[in-house]
Amino acid sequence: MSSRLPGFYNLSIESRWRALAEQGWLSPEDISELQRGLELSRADKMIENVIGVYGLPLGVATNFLVNGRDVLVPMVVEEPSVVAGASKAALAARECGGFTAEADESLMVGQVQLLDVPDLERAVQSALQHQAEILALANAQDPVLSGLGGGARSLRVRALTETPVGPMLVVELECDVRDAMGANAVNTMVEAIAPLLATVTGGRPNLRIITNLADRRLARARVRLRPEVLAVQGLDGQTVARRIVEAYALAVVDPYRAATHNKGIMNGVDAVVIATGNDWRAVEAGAHAYAARSGRYGPLAHWQLVDGELHGELEMPLAVGTVGGATRVHPVARLALGLMGASSARALAEVIAAVGLAQNLAALWALVTEGIQRGHMELHARQVAVAAGATGDEIEAVARAMVASREVRLDAAQRLLQQMRKRRQGDASDEA
Ligand code: NAD
Repeated sequence: MSSRLPGFYNLSIESRWRALAEQGWLSPEDISELQRGLELSRADKMIENVIGVYGLPLGVATNFLVNGRDVLVPMVVEEPSVVAGASKAALAARECGGFTAEADESLMVGQVQLLDVPDLERAVQSALQHQAEILALANAQDPVLSGLGGGARSLRVRALTETPVGPMLVVELECDVRDAMGANAVNTMVEAIAPLLATVTGGRPNLRIITNLADRRLARARVRLRPEVLAVQGLDGQTVARRIVEAYALAVVDPYRAATHNKGIMNGVDAVVIATGNDWRAVEAGAHAYAARSGRYGPLAHWQLVDGELHGELEMPLAVGTVGGATRVHPVARLALGLMGASSARALAEVIAAVGLAQNLAALWALVTEGIQRGHMELHARQVAVAAGATGDEIEAVARAMVASREVRLDAAQRLLQQMRKRRQGDASDEA
């Protein structure tokens, strides 16, 4: 199966289903599932006080080659240009062998905060002396995870002497959560070990919760681009590559740019995280905390010129699962996971890292050439046309007129729509 699907964007939704079914990406059951979406009765089991289902578009980014494997990437996002940008960057990467990616083991950390500890030094020693007992108690909470070769692995104990409420101890439980995101698994464990920690340290447990700074669960993606694949009308590839590195340099030294650089990465990352039913707030929290790990907020993806080639690399925490949470409860998330063929949480994280890097490339590429507004505006114009009340073929006509006049605004859309409808009424009465 190839993720290279030329002209896919021009097809109707039905034709896209057919094209994907012909290639073997989708089964007839998958297509019915996509038509059904999330039903109210299922939604009612997911959160509290449900009164409806909120829809978002699910698209697929094409052209992705990750570790030599063709991947069709499901993306759920409300912003135009994200899917197109990822697909365009993935095509350039594909012409140079695609992305390589790797992910660490699924190690998550849960924290137990202990206050009123009589002797911090002794408490640290005592917690470590009881490590085996504490780990056994943690692992007794999740026989499934232990059976899969995962589970609690080690303890780290830190004394924090200066905090706004005085000295405290934090005990960190490292756990291999295998193919889960792991928050429930780890939270259950830290809640279970807290009373034992109280006994062995003499402290009073307060917080018992996972940390979202999942820096032992990093994913990395790399790409090496020959400059010619970056050439655009009027600009040779070497100039584009050099400008991309120059643009990246601002993100290195300036958090104002780094925030936007990373926002572009998260456009891609979040879209896949949401499509697969994973917790995007957790991934966002981890990403930005990791970006600030040196004390200064910096870029998650890095670009350099090496022997005339443009090399890109992304590294970020990616706590995502292929089991647990909403991944199997939401029917479309389950389908999205199947579509990606991600056999494990690590394989999923690898693809997401590649998508993040592709999205960063797409943004930088557009920014250093025509700017992002041109491509963005064409898609954005359709949304503005809909917001102004356009329906059916009016949407395309109003959008095109706005782009031509470089006025993509609600008031312009309303004016154009009025004019268009008046003209049509006039035509209709002429014919009558
Ligand atoms: P979960 O408890 O639904 O699933 C994990 C469990 O699935 C494991 O404990 C294990 O018993 C079982 N399992 C079966 N097959 C497995 C396999 N191959 N690999 C690993 N485990 C397997 O979910 P979770 O992943 O522990 O937690 C994720 C959920 O927690 C998300 O919904 C998230 O939104 C939520 N959450 C997040 C936070 C946070 O990020 N701070 C806090 C609380 C809850």
